[in-house]
Amino acid sequence: MKNVKKIILVLMIVMISAPFVSSQLVKQALNPEVSISESPFVSCGSHHLMEIKDQSTPGYMNAQNEHLESIVSNSELEKQQSNYSERYIIPVVFHVVHNNTAENIPDSVLFDQLDVLNACFRRQNPETANTRPEFLPLVGDAQIEFVMASTDPQGNPTTGITRAQTSIEHFGGILPYSTSQQAQIQQWVNDSLFINIFRLTSTSDGGINAWDSTRYLNIWIGDLRIFEPQVNNFEELVYLGLATPPENHPNWPLTPLTDVGIYKQGVLMHYVAVGSNNSLSYPSPYQQFNRKAKQGKVMVHEVGHYLGLRHIWGDGNCTEDDFISDTPNAANHANWACNQSANTCTDNINGQDLPNMVENYMDYSNGDCQNAFTFGQIDLMREVLEQDRPDLWTSVLLVGIEENQLHSYQIYPNPNNGAFTIRLGDVMETIHVQILNTAGQVLLDAHYSNTDSIHIRDYFDAGVYLLKVDNSISSPVFEQIIIR
Ligand SMILES: [Zn+2]
Repeated sequence: MKNVKKIILVLMIVMISAPFVSSQLVKQALNPEVSISESPFVSCGSHHLMEIKDQSTPGYMNAQNEHLESIVSNSELEKQQSNYSERYIIPVVFHVVHNNTAENIPDSVLFDQLDVLNACFRRQNPETANTRPEFLPLVGDAQIEFVMASTDPQGNPTTGITRAQTSIEHFGGILPYSTSQQAQIQQWVNDSLFINIFRLTSTSDGGINAWDSTRYLNIWIGDLRIFEPQVNNFEELVYLGLATPPENHPNWPLTPLTDVGIYKQGVLMHYVAVGSNNSLSYPSPYQQFNRKAKQGKVMVHEVGHYLGLRHIWGDGNCTEDDFISDTPNAANHANWACNQSANTCTDNINGQDLPNMVENYMDYSNGDCQNAFTFGQIDLMREVLEQDRPDLWTSVLLVGIEENQLHSYQIYPNPNNGAFTIRLGDVMETIHVQILNTAGQVLLDAHYSNTDSIHIRDYFDAGVYLLKVDNSISSPVFEQIIIR
C-alpha cells in the first residue's frame, strides 16, 4: 500500500511539471556508459536484481558467488559428463496476469513455450545442428524436462495455468523522468523497481500468488514495462524476463525485501517474449528483440538463471567469469547478434582458445544462434536441483539403460491430445507395457509380442503419465507421456 502511494506521488510530480526528456537521456542518466541495447531495461533483469539485493544486503553477492563456487566444485568432482543416472522432471505452473486482451496470451502459446524449454534442455531442437564443431564436445542433453503441473497445491487436478485480470498496466512501475533527477532515478531503481515488478507474484498487489515454490516452478507472465511518461509511450523500458537465483541455501542471507515476502522464487516474463508462436511483437525501434523473443529462448535463458547459471560473459570484462570452466570468457555479451568471428578474451579450454560462444543460451545473442548448454552448465543446474531445489523434481531412472535402448521405445506425437503411438521396435519376445498416472496407479497393463507399435486413441484424460516397458533383458524403461 505504501508503494502504491509512492507511485501516485511520482505520477503527480510528472503531471505537474514535465519538460520533454528523451528516453535515451533517461537511460544515460541511469547508466552513462551503455548504449540502448545494453540498457538494464531492455534485457534480462536477473543479474540486476542480484546487484540491487547486494546493495540492500552488503555481502549478498559474495555469499552467492561462494555458494556457486562450492556447487561447481562439487559437480565437477562428482559428475561424469553426460553420464547422468536420472532425468529430472519439473512441474511448471504458468500464472498469466493480464490488464488487456493481448496480454492474456492463449494456452497454445504456453504449451509451445513448454515444448521449446524441453527441446532446448534436452538438446532436441533442430538448431543444435548449427553448433560450431569446436563446441560439440562441450555441449549436451541436460536430462531435465518440464511438464505442466497436473495437481495444484491442494491436490486438485489442474491444467497448470492460472489467469487473473489486473488493474495494473505496467508492473515495472513509473520511472522518474528528468535528467536533473539522476539521484532520484537511481534511488527509485534501488528502492522501487523490483518491489513494483514482484507485485506480479502477489494476489493482493494485483498479481497471482505463487504456488509452493519448493514444489513448483512458478512462471509469471505479465506486462513488465516500466512506465516512463512522455516519450514514445516508453514501451522500450522493459525486462524481457528475469529469474530468482536459488536462495534457500543457509549461507545466503535474506534481504529485507525477502523478509516481507516480496521476492518469490521463479521466473517472471514479459508477455511478448513468451513462446515461439506468439503473435505479438516489440514496437519500433526494438524489433531486434523479436528475433530472440520469437523463438521462446528468453525463457530458456531465465530458467537457466533459476537453476543457478550466470550470464556467460560473467557480467563483466575478461576478468569476470561465470564460474563455469568449459564456457569461454567474453569481454561483453553478444549484443543481440550472432557474430561467430568474435573472440574477445583469451582462454584455455582443453588446450583451446575458443571464440565467444554465441550458441549459448546464457548469452545475449539472438535466438537464431542459441542452441546449447555446456556440460559445465548442465552439471551446475543439476547440482542446484539436488542441493537447493530438492523437492522441485521427480526423476526417471536412466541407470543401466543403454542409449539405444532408451530410444527403442518411442511415443509420438508427445505431447499429444490423447491419440498416440508407442513404437516398440522389433520385439522378439513378449514385453510388458504399463501406463501409470502420477499417483502411481496402473491404468493400462498389457503384454505384447510380435508387435511393432501400439496405437492408443482417446483412452486417457489430459495429464502426465508414465510408460513403463519391461522385458527380460534389461531394467524397466520409463518414458513420459503428456496428454493435453
Ligand atoms: Zn540473464
